[in-house]
Amino acid sequence: QPRVFSGVQPSGNLHLGNYLGAIVNFVALQESHDCIYCVVDMHAITVWQDPRELSRQIREVTAAFVASGIDPVKHIVFNQSQVSVHAELAWVFNCVARIGWMNRMTQFKDKAGKDKENASLGLLAYPSLMAADILAYKATHVPVGEDQKQHLELTRDIAQKFNNDFSESIAAHGFGDAYFPITEPLITGPATRIMSLRDGTKKMSKSDPSDYSRINLTDDADAIAQKIRKAKTDADALPSEVDGLKGRPEADNLVGIYAALAGTTKQQVLDTFGGRQFSEFKPALGELAVSRLGPIGEEMRRLMQDPGHIDAILAAGAARAEAIARPVMDGVKDVVGFIRRN
Ligand code: ATP
Ligand code: MG
Repeated sequence: QPRVFSGVQPSGNLHLGNYLGAIVNFVALQESHDCIYCVVDMHAITVWQDPRELSRQIREVTAAFVASGIDPVKHIVFNQSQVSVHAELAWVFNCVARIGWMNRMTQFKDKAGKDKENASLGLLAYPSLMAADILAYKATHVPVGEDQKQHLELTRDIAQKFNNDFSESIAAHGFGDAYFPITEPLITGPATRIMSLRDGTKKMSKSDPSDYSRINLTDDADAIAQKIRKAKTDADALPSEVDGLKGRPEADNLVGIYAALAGTTKQQVLDTFGGRQFSEFKPALGELAVSRLGPIGEEMRRLMQDPGHIDAILAAGAARAEAIARPVMDGVKDVVGFIRRN
């Protein structure tokens, strides 16, 4: 069976974008693939994380996975830092990848802001660690939101360059003509790019300082309704055709969220709401969001009451992940020419 890997950072509150852009897909892929879902805590510390908050957030992402329907027994759920292969392979990839590749990444430019010299070195090398996450399992498919497309292209470049740079050694060690697969991105969720509720040109993010910019999976019904009511919009009624959403990013985003949550298309949403004002549309959207997210948030809160149980899921998953990744890393060491024990 083809193998899927994907990760979510424990860098703050999980939101509707993470759910519709990634987690819904994670759940669906369990039917047809062997899946590895990772709470990427080493990625999270590329920007400052308060240590006590970080532990809580690692457990919260795990709870969100399970509450959304990911089965940690049939598939693998763990946190990245428990499997040291991620760090070991990332170092080798740091030496394969070029600084120029990293400098071109839009996520680095966005997150580093104006003061690039003062960003962590880890933030620059982020895509190299991400390539290690995926290739440590020789994963063939990676479900992500649209914002991660560029990083996945870099993963393909790193795999290709490793395969080329070491082609002779790869063959000499009996691995054929390629050590790493060229990974396929799966950018196919019900909504691959949900925008901020405060600014229709910025993606919804955990790391956005404004809580009103996003709907968190743990928000209660009142909070969800209030955030949608306060969401930025223009003053016009909704159009009756999708074309009419052009140049109206906030309206486009809210209609897209409705369609994704209802499992329909934007056009179908406009068939119902075209010509109506936001004052009518927003309460309907709020109700739909509460009905979809409410049960997940409730289950997350229930799971969070037993941190020992969550930690046991992560430990068991880490042991199974290690069993796959360690032999892959041993092969890399042989190919590179390192000497290793036994
Ligand atoms: P941060 O702001 O800390 O980077 P994030 O909200 O971007 O957090 P990540 O942990 O970086 O979340 O990403 C987890 C997954 O969610 C990735 O697959 C990413 O592509 C997806 N994702 C993140 N934001 C959105 C969004 N607004 N719409 C759709 N998918 C998203
Ligand atoms: Mg992100």
